[in-house]
Order: sequence, then structure tokens, then C-alpha cells
Amino acid sequence: MGHRERGILEVDGVAVLARHRATCHCGEVELALDLPDGIVDPRRCDCSICRRKGAVVASVPLAGLHVVRGADRLRLYQFNTHTARHYFCGTCGIYTHHQRRSNPEQYGYNVGCLDGINPLKIAGVSCEDGVNHPSDRATAGPA
Ligand SMILES: [Zn+2]
Repeated sequence: MGHRERGILEVDGVAVLARHRATCHCGEVELALDLPDGIVDPRRCDCSICRRKGAVVASVPLAGLHVVRGADRLRLYQFNTHTARHYFCGTCGIYTHHQRRSNPEQYGYNVGCLDGINPLKIAGVSCEDGVNHPSDRATAGPA
């Protein structure tokens, strides 16, 4: 990756840390996210899974996400092409992160899991066209 995307460094007065803690709701799953550029590419998506979970998602390189605690609590969900890997807490059910289908070198993560960060205070969050996923345009599979 040649360029670094500039992200959001502060949300409603709360600083995004270079290494920021993220937790599920019950706290059994704890992640550490390397966010030297802040919250990069926060977005929603209207694909079949994102429209149900409704989370604001941002991206980190695979090496930038560390499962600190609760690796044994994480459950994996896959569907359709089984390319993306969607993780959630087996106790409280909260989506924490997923390995992306459109860029398997990145994880998407739940911005709402970041300590102290209210994702609904991020202005101008875009919505991806997940119904017409770039990986589906060639094969016309279900979104
Ligand atoms: Zn939990």
C-alpha cells in the first residue's frame, strides 16, 4: 500500500488513539486497533448483512487488528461466496469485525465498539452500494 488514507482523528471531542481499544457489549471480546491515521473510510453499506446490522464500519490493515481477549468467544459467520469472514461475540451477539471480501488485506471493524466513540456523531458517513457488490458484477450472484 503506497498511500495512507487520512482518517477521522476526533469524534465529538473524543480523540481516536494510535492504538484504540474496542470491545463487544458484554466485554468478553476485546480488540486493540492500530489507528495511526484515525478512523479511515467510515461507512455504512446496504448489502444483505450490513442492512441488518446497521453498524458504521471502518477499515484497518489485517496487521492492525489484535484480539486481546475473548478469541474463544468470537464466532465466525459466512455466507454466499464464503469469502468475507464476519466475527461476532458468541455471548452478546455484537458484530466486532470482519475480513473484507472486496479487500481481503483489510478488516472492517465496528466503529461503535471503539472506547468512547459515538459513531452517530461522525458527520457525512457514506453508504456503499452493497446491493451491487463489486465482486458480484461479473457473476450476478445474490448480494
Ligand atoms: Zn460480548
